[in-house]
Amino acid sequence: MARYLLSNLPVELNAVAEPLERLLATALGAKASCFRDPVLERRSLDARHKGRLRFLLNVSFESDPDFSAAPLAPGAKLETAPASVSFQVNAAPRRPKVVIVGTGPAGTFCALRLLDYGIEPILLERGPEMGERVQKVNALWREGTLDVDANAQFGEGGAGTFSDGKLATRTGHPAIRFVLETFVRFGADPKILFLAKPHVGTDVIRGCSVRMRREAQARGAQYRFKTRLADFREEAGRVRAAITSEGEEIPCDALVLAPGHSARDTFEMLVRHGVALRPKPFAMGVRVEQPVDLIDRAQYGPSAGHPSLDPADYRLVCNLNRDRAAYSFCMCPGGEVIQCSSEAGGVVVNGMSNAKRDSGYSNSGLVAKVNTADFGASDPLAGMHLQRRWEQACFRAAGERYGAPAMAVQDFLKGRPTGRLPRTSFRPFAVPADLETCLPDFVLAQLRAALPEFDRKLHGFTSVEAILLAIESRTSSPIQLMRGENGQSPSHAGLYPCGEGAGFAGGITSAAVDGIRVAEWIAQGAGAPVFEPFEKRVKSGDVGTEY
Ligand SMILES: Cc1cc2nc3c(=O)[nH]c(=O)nc-3n(C[C@H](O)[C@H](O)[C@H](O)COP(=O)(O)OP(=O)(O)OC[C@H]3O[C@@H](n4cnc5c(N)ncnc54)[C@H](O)[C@@H]3O)c2cc1C
Repeated sequence: MARYLLSNLPVELNAVAEPLERLLATALGAKASCFRDPVLERRSLDARHKGRLRFLLNVSFESDPDFSAAPLAPGAKLETAPASVSFQVNAAPRRPKVVIVGTGPAGTFCALRLLDYGIEPILLERGPEMGERVQKVNALWREGTLDVDANAQFGEGGAGTFSDGKLATRTGHPAIRFVLETFVRFGADPKILFLAKPHVGTDVIRGCSVRMRREAQARGAQYRFKTRLADFREEAGRVRAAITSEGEEIPCDALVLAPGHSARDTFEMLVRHGVALRPKPFAMGVRVEQPVDLIDRAQYGPSAGHPSLDPADYRLVCNLNRDRAAYSFCMCPGGEVIQCSSEAGGVVVNGMSNAKRDSGYSNSGLVAKVNTADFGASDPLAGMHLQRRWEQACFRAAGERYGAPAMAVQDFLKGRPTGRLPRTSFRPFAVPADLETCLPDFVLAQLRAALPEFDRKLHGFTSVEAILLAIESRTSSPIQLMRGENGQSPSHAGLYPCGEGAGFAGGITSAAVDGIRVAEWIAQGAGAPVFEPFEKRVKSGDVGTEY
């Protein structure tokens, strides 16, 4: 019996919960009993016409009758379903000693994939295990006390732990399916396998991280928490050992560097060693927040509140010229703006949501492109220094405490702080401030130019209920580590730059994919054959900020 894939099947909001057999029967003009084992492969929302929202489904199924001549809805397509890929591999002939720095998605998926090859890595994580980390983060959000090694950036699970848990990526890499299936295996809702915009939520992703670690430990990986990579030993251009914050030397054949974009002391250590890297553009700005109903009404029109619809998202872009653009980033429907600092004397904000997305607010990063020419210096860490300078300015504007300087959008547009703040989800506290003192002029100018355009595209975006909080500075890494065809640093053999901090990922899924990609390189070096399904579309440095 053949398997088919029907793509772009339009389905009304009220009909989306109907059995797939019935939807197929209506679409293809046959009896429901003709369709066996139907699987929903993808579901997206078609919101092009606000008065007539509908879902578009891709459904695979088996059937005897040939439907190739059946009339289809405009845009729909029927074809033979592609064969599914098995991700199983055999043990590698050799067992190199591997140390992985960081337990974010890049480090975690690198470890899980190495274990598939029988290679048992040691993972170093500067922050604590999940339970202790959550307590420290809650203390920051309740009382404003910061632990520089246990916060929303550092600790078990990496930055992804206190994230919104959106798993969408633009990379199109075949390992994405493997990543999503792995999240489901460790507790994520199986819906992420078909949603066009998969979302896990911070409450669920924390459990997934812990279960992934426990399985990795059971299969032979060693985890060392509260242990920072402080240095490494090199001989004749090759990495020989990782050196921890306790001064312990751990000999290794491969050192996987997946420390995320906030590991500033690690970046400084890499520069001291002359590791090949260069400054990289990123983006900087604020978080903008409005009530969830306002965004839903603007995006869904009369369908707002329909039970089949999740809180609405948006993606807004304003291209000012070839070098300048402002855009929304990491949009969190039904989420919270969070305190995300990791360095003493600096304030950083970001956004997250729980699986239910029921906070009553929606927020997003509203950021402007920061080009390397804006860094004001040519040293490799100039972008990092720029981030730090403005994070410190925000700390001062918040009264030298870990709150966040904030301003009503309308005051910001008029350039006149009134001290009035719209309601916000942000904890521990927002401080009325003049955001002129919190951001570079070129960022302020781009945000001021973009906001009225965003209000035209999304009605109410700049209403009296909209608030800005600063500073959203950790959008992506300010450096790019170089990587050769074999995944290793061209300056240091055995050093594998990986994930977002190294400039090879722009979100949870692409970081996880990059971790897998590095594991494949290490396994090939240990004599394993090339794993064709992941090899086909591998490109280096094909990822920017993307969620
Ligand atoms: C609040 C927030 C919300 C986000 N929301 C989303 C989202 O919805 N979707 C999405 O795709 N992405 C989101 N992201 C981004 C996403 O979390 C990152 O892209 C992703 O986690 C990067 O993975 P990584 O493994 O490369 O690095 P990280 O996750 O940053 O992990 C790096 C780890 O390395 C550790 N480390 C650093 N230096 C050292 C050292 N010297 N020694 C030992 N350990 C070290 C750190 O403690 C950390 O645990 C969000 C990020 C934040 C902060």
